Amino acid sequence: MTLWLLGDQLNLAAVLAHKPVRVLLIEADELGQTPPMHPQKLVLFFSAMRHMAQALQRQGLEVVYLQAPTVQQALAEFYQRFPSEPLYQMQPADSGFVQRVQPLVQALGGDYLQLDNPLWIVSPAVFDGWAGTKKRYWLEGFYRFARSYTGLLMNHQQPEGGAWNFDAENRKPLPRGHQPPSPLRFAPDTLTQTVMQEVQQRFKHPFGQLEGFDWPVTRTQALAALQDFIDHRLPHFGAYQDALSAHSWSVYHSLLSPALNLGLLHPLEVCQRVEAAYRQGGIPLSSAEGFIRQVLGWREYIYHVYRREHPSLLKANTLQAHRPLPPLYWGAPTQMRCVDFVLQKVQQRAYAHHIERLMVLANLALLYGASPQQTNDWFIAAFLDSAEWVMAPNVLGMGLYAWTGLSTKPYAASGKYIERMGQHCQSCVFTVAQSQGHGACPFNVLYWAFLHQHRELLQRNPRMSVLYRSWDKRSPQQQAALLQQAEHIKQNLATGQL
Ligand code: SF4
Repeated sequence: MTLWLLGDQLNLAAVLAHKPVRVLLIEADELGQTPPMHPQKLVLFFSAMRHMAQALQRQGLEVVYLQAPTVQQALAEFYQRFPSEPLYQMQPADSGFVQRVQPLVQALGGDYLQLDNPLWIVSPAVFDGWAGTKKRYWLEGFYRFARSYTGLLMNHQQPEGGAWNFDAENRKPLPRGHQPPSPLRFAPDTLTQTVMQEVQQRFKHPFGQLEGFDWPVTRTQALAALQDFIDHRLPHFGAYQDALSAHSWSVYHSLLSPALNLGLLHPLEVCQRVEAAYRQGGIPLSSAEGFIRQVLGWREYIYHVYRREHPSLLKANTLQAHRPLPPLYWGAPTQMRCVDFVLQKVQQRAYAHHIERLMVLANLALLYGASPQQTNDWFIAAFLDSAEWVMAPNVLGMGLYAWTGLSTKPYAASGKYIERMGQHCQSCVFTVAQSQGHGACPFNVLYWAFLHQHRELLQRNPRMSVLYRSWDKRSPQQQAALLQQAEHIKQNLATGQL
């Protein structure tokens, strides 16, 4: 049996469980070109795939590793060598993938067959059984179900510590002068260095640096990264998971999403290791629970939301936002300190943590009125842990409120939130305490203009009505001046001059 293994299914145990004789891996240039991916993302996938090919060969499996401009050309090469061979594949996370490749395989005389994908903690059948025919299936309900289903952080059918969620303890900014520890990094080995050279030659990258790649690409490295997180950052992860630091790129985050999304780590083993560390002592429950909520709760939930809402989710645009994404996302300089810091980090590492993505980058796109589809494409291109299944619900749902199934209101925020959670405003040319007028923080001006623009949709929400009362206290002249300033800011963003 030939198993066609995708770049996000690099889990040796899962492969061996299906007992293939031969494994096909395809490295197709087209997957890195539209939109042009961050070069470190390409290195991550290609290096991890090639290391996996070596690991499979060590297990005695025949590996067919094909490089081609397109998937179609690689499949044609495969069928020249193995006519009529059926191709088995674990269910792809990308819901559109099967529709794209099944006709290609069939046209070449093969058969495309799907296998279960064991890389999720909660299988599609189990999730669908829980969600039933509910029109709205909220995260909190799923998370409680998943805790009971797995037994993670449970105590005689009750949540450990007497509560399901310690979110209120997860929102501290870093104390002044506090420096989180540096995470364990991985110098590229010879194989990764070869991949880096090839990526440099084969792909155009208008965005992102190739140099400095130091992410785990093997299971051994991924396990070491997990242990490093548990030993050095998990104890403070809970308290500071929403903090915006101007001095630390990693804060107390696990940095495990790339290894999880490649399949090098199974989400259940990661949660179990974190729970075991908590039960040994020395890890606050708010840290263990906060982390497990991200992996068992949010990560699994987001996948199933994507799977069930695809493809309509991809086209959603509730706020009718159509502006092209401003050039600063693609590298144009900006004076907004918070945005500049996060975007420089994305250029250097293809990484930013969840609050930087949601409350800085997605928030700016939301307030500016950027096309949700273009913004989603950018997020997929820019981050090395990105894929359509993870980005579409996060960007189109959570970030830009284009799809309204995840929250009852947009995650729009003024500069006040960024100031409260971080250290950027102190060194910014704009004044965060000022809501309009010369030097006012652009997030503040855009925020009030956004509320004004979408008043009809949002003021019915009881959590928003207090904001409208505050807006209504401004004089008509003040409101008009702010709206005019917002237009000016949008023009400057559009031309890369802010
Ligand atoms: Fe960002 Fe506004 Fe603070 Fe500047 S003042 S860092 S733009 S939130």
